[in-house]
Amino acid sequence: MAGLYFHIPFCKQACHYCDFHFSTNQTLKQELVNQLSEELTLQKDYLQGEPIETIYLGGGTPSLLTAQELETLFTSIHKNYRVASGVEVTVEANPDDLTPKKLSELKSTGVNRLSIGIQSFDERVLKFLNRSHTATEALKCVEAAHQVGINNISIDLIYSIPDQNEESLQKNLATALTLHPKHISAYSLTVEEKTVFGRWASKGKLHAVEEDQSARQFELVMDLLTQHGYQHYEISNYCLPGFQSKHNTSYWKGKTYLGLGPSAHSYNGTTRQFNIPNNHHYIKSIQKGIVPFEREELTNENKINEYLLTSLRTEWGCSLYFLEEKFGYDLATHNKPYLNQLLSNNLIELNRGTIMLTRAGKLLADRIASDLFVSS
Ligand code: SF4
Repeated sequence: MAGLYFHIPFCKQACHYCDFHFSTNQTLKQELVNQLSEELTLQKDYLQGEPIETIYLGGGTPSLLTAQELETLFTSIHKNYRVASGVEVTVEANPDDLTPKKLSELKSTGVNRLSIGIQSFDERVLKFLNRSHTATEALKCVEAAHQVGINNISIDLIYSIPDQNEESLQKNLATALTLHPKHISAYSLTVEEKTVFGRWASKGKLHAVEEDQSARQFELVMDLLTQHGYQHYEISNYCLPGFQSKHNTSYWKGKTYLGLGPSAHSYNGTTRQFNIPNNHHYIKSIQKGIVPFEREELTNENKINEYLLTSLRTEWGCSLYFLEEKFGYDLATHNKPYLNQLLSNNLIELNRGTIMLTRAGKLLADRIASDLFVSS
């Protein structure tokens, strides 16, 4: 079973924190969709006939696609790939695009899951982040989605925002809970260099939230959501039982996927491919029948490190048996003193050959993974 990811690189406006690949000029949108449909044909052997279990439209802002553009993509998917019954079809959406008409169009194309970029219910914070929508639109769109029958809804929230205190975060989470989303992704704001926030930070106009305050906010999110029945199944992801994102879970479990569009990545078990992050060049290249990508052959060390980084962030943990069987790597022997130190500092638990992060360990997930990395 495999997944398809589409990168739709257009947005109405640039959020001040975002360093994804996108353009606010939408004049190439329709042509880019035509070429995505061509890329589906050009790449149809990449997944070697594996049935498609998950389809994910991300970006950028895929909710900017018209009904006809969505139709173009889905027709090409069904023409070129074997789609499994019960396929999960997720579209990332911004609240201001989710009118009742748009929601009906999404539903009739087969979309059965929405990942809505709400980020905050506080108007002041939304303006600070330069989001294109209001808090009222965020509240309304979730209700409207339920009304058309799309009930599998995930919402994105951001915390560790400068000037946002814990009380405001708590209020935000309480509002989110009134919407009963099946899934919540909660991300800590990172200030990236090539963004408006990055420029403000370099001029001293913006100060990122201190690490200990960010840690307190992470704990606040974790405690409140788990108290309300959400399963903390990945560091930044929570769901009601049975509503994990199948698509993202397949990334974390190392399943194969094909990424289409500028800047999309693909993985087939032995290599990763990265499409060029340039809309114009992407279109020109696909028009000539060439998929413009760079390929990286994964070494055994790369695979071990990727597994460490992703598995430790999940509730399934890092299996020592899997590392041994799949990569011939005995993690416990190579890292005995460090693992003992993590155990005695109560940062990890070791259960039946699986390493899991404790509550305190979750705050240091990426650091612990990188300390365990194998160097080539
Ligand atoms: S809408 Fe999403 S992709 Fe677009 S700029 Fe904002 S965060 Fe980035």
